[in-house]
Amino acid sequence: MASILRTSPKEASRKDKQAALIALVNRLGREKFAPRAAKYDREASFPFENYADMREAGLLGLCVPEAYGGLGADFETYCLVAAEMGRWCGTTALTFNMHACSALWTGPLADDLDMSPAERNELETLRREHYRRVIEEGAIYAQPFSEGSAAAAGKAPFGTTAKKVDGGWIINGKKIFASLSGAADYYGVLCTEDKPDRSLRDTLYIAVPKDAEGLSIVGDWDPLGMRGTVSRTLVMKDVFVPDSAQLMPRGLYFKAASAWPHMFLTLAPTYMGIAQAAYDFTVQYLRGEVPGQPPVKRRMYPTKQIAVAEMYIKLQQTRALFERTIAEAKVNPSKEERLRCYATQYTIMENANDIARLAIRTCGGQSMLKSLPLERLYRDSRCGALMLPWTAELCLDRLGRETLYEPGETDD
Ligand SMILES: Cc1cc2nc3c(=O)[nH]c(=O)nc-3n(C[C@H](O)[C@H](O)[C@H](O)COP(=O)(O)OP(=O)(O)OC[C@H]3O[C@@H](n4cnc5c(N)ncnc54)[C@H](O)[C@@H]3O)c2cc1C
Repeated sequence: MASILRTSPKEASRKDKQAALIALVNRLGREKFAPRAAKYDREASFPFENYADMREAGLLGLCVPEAYGGLGADFETYCLVAAEMGRWCGTTALTFNMHACSALWTGPLADDLDMSPAERNELETLRREHYRRVIEEGAIYAQPFSEGSAAAAGKAPFGTTAKKVDGGWIINGKKIFASLSGAADYYGVLCTEDKPDRSLRDTLYIAVPKDAEGLSIVGDWDPLGMRGTVSRTLVMKDVFVPDSAQLMPRGLYFKAASAWPHMFLTLAPTYMGIAQAAYDFTVQYLRGEVPGQPPVKRRMYPTKQIAVAEMYIKLQQTRALFERTIAEAKVNPSKEERLRCYATQYTIMENANDIARLAIRTCGGQSMLKSLPLERLYRDSRCGALMLPWTAELCLDRLGRETLYEPGETDD
């Protein structure tokens, strides 16, 4: 009996690996990312220096399976590492999500899906080349899905199309909010195969190289928060890519989106990290320990103590849900696990902003100044609830329906 309760050696080594990766990101974040964060925010410029550090540390291959030379992080490991990154620089963590998830989705998540042997072979061939680029060339991948239509919400086929031609695909369309625009080496575009009676099942996931003819980046980028993501608009006009540009075989993205819903939770760890950062700063500030600031203590006021207590409770509630949900993520989750996943996304995105709001109110007027990080954390934290496919509104929408109706049920 006792042996059943003991952690298996495999599980112990997974936990050790998680701890080592979190420690690595903690060091990079504390020493490198945090001091640079204000500059990227001020300039709305991409964190190239942070990516150079991550490339050197091998982190670009975080979710590339070990068999292909990567660090082999699974879903839970990715989420824990990304939350640590978000604690030091939200922009870096959010853009890293787009990059890392290109490998996570085509790697361990795809492996869980039902596929014929031929499809499995095709996936193997396709991803081998993408992973090689990441590991050997240090390539960075973006994930431009949004189009300003119902498609990014998962409710309609993507308007961007890919037409099959000899040896490859011709892509036409437009993607809005393409984080890493101008910084990525490849844009992992979601599009619909150009054929009659298109449906969500015809979604294709294709990597367009940055120098592809017919690809352009247009529009300004001067937003409220997450400014270093540089999420401008991509326009693709008759862009040809070879067959090998596919990140997944035909039909596999649809299967993943249906059977592995937690794949859409991967934006949330960034905001879990921002919530932690807002709390950390508040404690440091009230203790009079912010470097470069006069050592004025404000912790003796009962109102501040109560506010920090409230922040701590909200942070722990959020973290507990986060840890539970990322640990139970899997293919074909139960209804309860799926609903909890929406609830977790909602909770993290809303609570991150609420914790940052409480932090500003508690630290007071000086926390509004650009010389301190709190006003940036507040602005960055506001963006989470707006991110498709699971905006805060859409999570409520899904939860409202799916708690009250079983699949196929109607009222008439
Ligand atoms: C900092 C930042 C970085 C981003 N990076 C990326 C990226 O790299 N790649 C990417 O693909 N996208 C990215 N996005 C885009 C993001 O995921 C959303 O697509 C975008 O914010 C939606 O903008 P919109 O107002 O045009 O959405 P709209 O489609 O107009 O939706 C507005 C709101 O209406 C609701 N809504 C939308 N559709 C429906 C529906 N069918 N039913 C009910 N309610 C609905 C949702 O709550 C949504 O928030 C980023 C966004 C931000 C803020």
